[in-house]
Amino acid sequence: MEKIALLYEGKAKRIYTTTEPDLLVVDYKDDATAFNGLKKGRIANKGVLNNKISAFFFTLLAKCGVESHYVRLLSDREMLVKKLKIIPVEVVVRNYAAGSLSQRLGLKEGTPLARPVLEFYYKNDALGDPLINEDHIAVLALATPAQVGAMAKQALTVNRILTEHLKTLNLILVDYKLEFGLYQGQVLLGDEISPDTCRFWEATTGEKLDKDRFRRDLGGVEEAYQEIYRRLTGGDC
Ligand code: ADP
Ligand code: UDP
Repeated sequence: MEKIALLYEGKAKRIYTTTEPDLLVVDYKDDATAFNGLKKGRIANKGVLNNKISAFFFTLLAKCGVESHYVRLLSDREMLVKKLKIIPVEVVVRNYAAGSLSQRLGLKEGTPLARPVLEFYYKNDALGDPLINEDHIAVLALATPAQVGAMAKQALTVNRILTEHLKTLNLILVDYKLEFGLYQGQVLLGDEISPDTCRFWEATTGEKLDKDRFRRDLGGVEEAYQEIYRRLTGGDC
């Protein structure tokens, strides 16, 4: 398997084609953006940390029966994945109120939610990724009802597995975003699971260990990502 050509460069990752038509290389960058690209910066070592943290989570999920696009790590910043036809719907799962949910519903940040809350956003930078529902997904023909059902089911299974595992590390999984795509007719989990796409809080101190440190200029961003890696793997990156 050889890397061939740059297929797509996004805000946080580059995607390359390979000699295998069904496989892609994902290269994680240090670039950071927030507020739909309005805030830009770099977080030292972020690409390495997000690559390895995502690999850890995809491996854990596979052990627990949730398949994903992840094949294997190739280098510090690169992983080999199955090529998906990405469904342009971002699936957000929330266990505690934070971010846009706190703003929209007036819930104080940190309020525990009585049950996990599932949300869908239209993955469309020009529109600012608006919140959508299953009717919107149907009329825009973004996914079939069966595919929406498969995404929702997997997202909630991921929630159980990650919440329980992170609890053993004294970490709270506040919320996170997943992306799915089609692979040989199957709805498969893709993209990344990292401090860029999840909110992780230290359970005892409430300290934020995720991209909110960048979004809100809290400092110690790389250290927070390192801490997540250290708790997951017991080592330094
Ligand atoms: P963005 O596109 O939002 O700037 P990234 O920089 O993370 O985001 O770019 C990675 C892109 O690759 C995303 O658009 C994501 O949907 C897509 N992607 C993730 N996993 C796969 C995959 N297995 N196959 C094809 N595309 C993928
Ligand atoms: N999220 C993401 N990408 C997005 C939007 C959200 O990874 O384009 C993640 C975000 O990191 C958080 C969760 O989804 O873990 C919920 O985000 P929220 O809607 O609160 O967004 P905010 O407006 O705070 O970025």
